[in-house]
Amino acid sequence: MDVQQKLDVLGSAAQADLACGKCGEGQTRVKDDIGRWIYPAVRQDGRTVKMLKVLQTNACEKDCFYCATRRGRDIRRTTFQPDELASTFDQIHRANLAEAIFISSGVAGGGTRTMERMLATAELLRGKYAFRGYLHLKLMPGAEPSAIERALQLADRVSVNLEAPSSEHLAKLSSTKRYAEELLAPLHIARKLIDNQPALAKKSMTTQFVVGAAGEQDREILARTAQLYRDLALARVYYSAFQPVENTPLDGHAPTPLIREHRLYQTDFLFRQYGFTFDDLVFDARGNLSVESDPKTVWAIHHPEFFPVELNRASKEQLLRVPGIGLLSAARITQSRRANKFLSIEQLARVGADAQRAAPFILLNGRQPARQLALF
Ligand code: SF4
Repeated sequence: MDVQQKLDVLGSAAQADLACGKCGEGQTRVKDDIGRWIYPAVRQDGRTVKMLKVLQTNACEKDCFYCATRRGRDIRRTTFQPDELASTFDQIHRANLAEAIFISSGVAGGGTRTMERMLATAELLRGKYAFRGYLHLKLMPGAEPSAIERALQLADRVSVNLEAPSSEHLAKLSSTKRYAEELLAPLHIARKLIDNQPALAKKSMTTQFVVGAAGEQDREILARTAQLYRDLALARVYYSAFQPVENTPLDGHAPTPLIREHRLYQTDFLFRQYGFTFDDLVFDARGNLSVESDPKTVWAIHHPEFFPVELNRASKEQLLRVPGIGLLSAARITQSRRANKFLSIEQLARVGADAQRAAPFILLNGRQPARQLALF
């Protein structure tokens, strides 16, 4: 296989991994031979970069039941040798086609051996090719502490895909991965290294869950998410609605509706940006989020004692609990009300809030806007 063919196979296989960011969502990728594996990815600082997503190899000895790359499945297998991948990316980078790279891999020859190949690629990128841009490395299951440390030295971000909220759920997705020892442990080791070495202080970590293939509840996923943010200070958690792949053990399993993934992302956003905690969340009798309403609206409906909120006096934290008021509109409200009190929902709409949604939950100088009475 020549380099372009390898790039096709290993770029395509890397697409399913979201732990490098919600790459390409709603954005158009370049359509030429190389460009189709280059994704616009939003970095933590908000900057969008063009990122090559690629596997070091799609040979894999693991059997993850949902995965197109799992062992024994009849697909074309190939491997980038470290210098082959590093020099290929160097050309892409010099041609200004990509400014960042995400490297993951199938597990071939054990986690340690696989990480050695990935680290060799990263060493070449940083050394021989003097690449100073954004590098994201996947940590392989069971990665050794020394390999994790080197990965943190070379990369801006590392990730381990937990895929499931517990070892019991992971057992329904793979018979060859051990949850605590192989997946959680590398994240704990990485966190300790970041906390204890000032040179690593800016390095970050992410993970991903496959949603809906292991019979897990949203409650279980989000309990794990809250713990990961709290105890391991993960930068992001990503959620991937399960979609069955032909000729895998979960081939006949129903796909997960995308609305479930969407609700998990909305809740994740509430954790990270709106001051919500796991205890704030409301689940249905089956332990899942509402499909009909977003999680913030559901919380508001279950907490009538919190409302109505007086728009002209409420703190930013109170405003952020109001459905229809987001981060930007809350900031604009606190800014503009110094000069002019909010007296109508039209004024609220002018600062970018969804005034119709907010109306049942607010007071404007002591008066309830029209349309809210039905809920209280
Ligand atoms: S480790 Fe599992 S998820 Fe990763 S490539 Fe192998 S089979 Fe797929």
